[in-house]
Amino acid sequence: MSAADLDDYSWINDSAKADKVAKALLKWGLDAGASSFCHWFQPMAATFRHGQTGQVQLSTLEYNSDGTPTFELKGKHILFGETDGSSYPNGGMRATHTAGGYLCIDPSSPPFMRDDCIFIPACFVSYDGKALDEKTPLHRAHQAMSKETARLFKHCGFEVKGAVNNIGLEQELFFIPREAYQRRMDLQFTGRTVLGKMPARGQELCDHYMSPINIEAEVYACMKEIQEQCYKLGIPLKTRHREVAPNQYEFAPLFGSVITQTDQNLMVMQIAEEVARKHDLACLLQEKPFAGVNGSGKHNNWSISTLCGAQLLNPGDLTTKSGNPNLFPIVMAALVAGVDEYGDLMRLAIASPGNDFRLGAMEAPPSVISTYLGTQMTAYLKDFSEGNVYEYKPATSPINLGVDIMPIVHAPAEDRNRTSPFPYGGHRFEFRAVGSSQNVSLVNTVLNALTAKKFAEISDRIEAGEDAVAVAQDMLKKHFKVVYNGNGYDPAWPAKADELGITHIDSGVEAIDKFVAEKNIKMFESLGIFDAAECAARRSILLDLYVGTIEMEVGCMIDMINQHAIPSAKAAGIDTAGMAAGVSKLEAALKEMHAASDEFEAAKLARVLRLDTMIEVRKVVDDVEAICPADKWTIATYKELLFVDTGKFK
Ligand code: ADP
Ligand code: MG
Repeated sequence: MSAADLDDYSWINDSAKADKVAKALLKWGLDAGASSFCHWFQPMAATFRHGQTGQVQLSTLEYNSDGTPTFELKGKHILFGETDGSSYPNGGMRATHTAGGYLCIDPSSPPFMRDDCIFIPACFVSYDGKALDEKTPLHRAHQAMSKETARLFKHCGFEVKGAVNNIGLEQELFFIPREAYQRRMDLQFTGRTVLGKMPARGQELCDHYMSPINIEAEVYACMKEIQEQCYKLGIPLKTRHREVAPNQYEFAPLFGSVITQTDQNLMVMQIAEEVARKHDLACLLQEKPFAGVNGSGKHNNWSISTLCGAQLLNPGDLTTKSGNPNLFPIVMAALVAGVDEYGDLMRLAIASPGNDFRLGAMEAPPSVISTYLGTQMTAYLKDFSEGNVYEYKPATSPINLGVDIMPIVHAPAEDRNRTSPFPYGGHRFEFRAVGSSQNVSLVNTVLNALTAKKFAEISDRIEAGEDAVAVAQDMLKKHFKVVYNGNGYDPAWPAKADELGITHIDSGVEAIDKFVAEKNIKMFESLGIFDAAECAARRSILLDLYVGTIEMEVGCMIDMINQHAIPSAKAAGIDTAGMAAGVSKLEAALKEMHAASDEFEAAKLARVLRLDTMIEVRKVVDDVEAICPADKWTIATYKELLFVDTGKFK
């Protein structure tokens, strides 16, 4: 057996080879002082879980027949595991009396070592093969995309073995002083502040954006250590900079395969939280930790490449390698159609509770799902759809700085549009509306699924006798409305989008419900990604997550008002009747939510409670904070939380 045997994954079906891999892993671990291993998996909707993953660590310690101790790791140990995991969210797919959960190695994602344990990336399924994790459906969707790419490209004269989806995730987060974090129950329990008056200085000047990271301060050392720990695990974190909100930062890796990038991003988030603690900081991954300043996203840069290396979203590369100049517009037609037809699923995939505060708030794209292609490509595809078929050769625009000693800048063909949820950005799309705390598996399950589905439709029609170009032209004409190159932050855009019939779903709860829309179940079933029961289970889990999140947020708010804000105000001689009335309002709304007839109704009430009642009560408390003497206010203030790294405020 050689290292090359690992590449085609066939070793997992050969017990002798699997034993060899296990032996090598054991030696690698023992040489580095690691004597434990675990299957490392991704339970569904695990936003609050530290690291968002699951694991049971097992020692490799065994006894020989003569009672002497030894270390042992066999092929069977690394290939499969079983876990009694009935407490994981499962949406009714398991019960305590039918609780079997099975772990299966993911040979496409490299094992890694942290401290004394080897982590083996794994999928997690139920006794009857239902996906109980975020990863299994991503693999299914990726496989469907790969197969349908090969099938369609064959019809277009380009034989490929399959395709791979590459992503690069820009992770935004906040670092705040740990001491202040420890004086905020809301941050500790829910990741966001449910109370807090804006200080005199916030984001007015956008002066935090890309400014130098204070080399003397904790954040600099923390970011360096995060990068270093990531490199040790093979995670190539390339970019680091300050983001626009005070205390907000970003990391981005070199892009790579969707499976490993997703796994690695989960580790990046975990490492950021753990390392921050070492530097007396707290890392906040939630989408909207603070009102009044920007929240955090995770831009999902997305592209597809054939296994032979032709980039589907790079017109020149695809044309050269395929020899077919029409293949690029055919691919684009499929994607435009997919975004239009399955925009509701894209919206659903970003419906995390925290994202409800961001989408449409002029800091993230609106809850309208459109795509930006830029003027050149839009004009080209319009021409193509109207029968004027030629090869797309985008012109780059030279920029002259007007200074003789400076070089001419060769800008890409298209400008950037940061207000679109899904802009084309030169050889890739960027799903910009993804939430910072999200596991991006579902996001990319949806993107790969809609690609596979539209590729399959074109192939079906070709196989029924139609011409590929004609089918693409037809698709473009039908779905061009979803292309929007204007300003997505324009307040008039959502109403215009409604008129055009483009997906526009403000409520995350309504978006979650789209999991069980008939057309979506049919699409997922046809590609072998989810069956109807799996769709229903995921809808139910996401709704439960929504309700549970708001329950915790309201609980924190009530406790913080009763235990801090009211006593502080009393000590300062400020009237507390308004805050007490606010608590009663929150309690009544919680009660109503608990009495709801089902989880969908409960989630709808939770959303109103959060976006109306909580905000109304918060205003009362924040007004009291504004006049309460600082030494009497016991909750850490925004001023204490938001300026960890300027140096001036210490
Ligand atoms: P910006 O903030 O300017 O958009 P960043 O460097 O912060 O750029 O992040 C861009 C991300 O996109 C990086 O993770 C990068 O590796 C990734 N990326 C670049 N090209 C591709 C591609 N073809 N497919 C997928 N991801 C890509
Ligand atoms: Mg960036």
